[in-house]
Amino acid sequence: MLIDIKGLAREEGRLFRTLQASALRLEGDESLAEGPVEIGGDLEAVAKGILFSGTLKAQVRLECVRCLEPFRTILTPEFELLFTPKAEAAEGGEHQLHEEDCETWPAPEGRVDIARVAREQLILGMPGKALCRPDCPGLCPRCGANRNLKACECAPEPDPGTSPWKLSLVSRRESDPEGRT
Ligand SMILES: [Zn+2]
Ligand SMILES: [Zn+2]
Repeated sequence: MLIDIKGLAREEGRLFRTLQASALRLEGDESLAEGPVEIGGDLEAVAKGILFSGTLKAQVRLECVRCLEPFRTILTPEFELLFTPKAEAAEGGEHQLHEEDCETWPAPEGRVDIARVAREQLILGMPGKALCRPDCPGLCPRCGANRNLKACECAPEPDPGTSPWKLSLVSRRESDPEGRT
């Protein structure tokens, strides 16, 4: 979906689009977005191009790193992009980090494929460690039971404060045959 970013910056100063998840062409592990994906923000003409201070909003399906169960959540990553008239980022990818720490994105003839921008920002906005809830107890390391669903019969894990290593040091000293009295 090509958008006249230059015209929008001049006339409205902002951009807002709702895209179908299928338009983002997410594939494989990235096929996580469900329902419409919203992208919007302010457009500002600057010396080097057009600055887009945007937010993405998407419902995604993720897998919890602790209990491995799928869950749904809404991601709202914020980002800043500099749409540049030149295709200066041609090598290697379609964009690159700019000196000002702002990601640049080529906008030939002032136009941008907004679905590609949304796809990129959604992938960048994915959490590294997804949790179904902040205090998810995860799977039992012994029997593998999902402790969100049932409490298993396994003994609790040993307290890391009393490691076997420390215990053996103490007991060796106590049973020292030489005695240190
Ligand atoms: Zn979980
Ligand atoms: Zn267990």
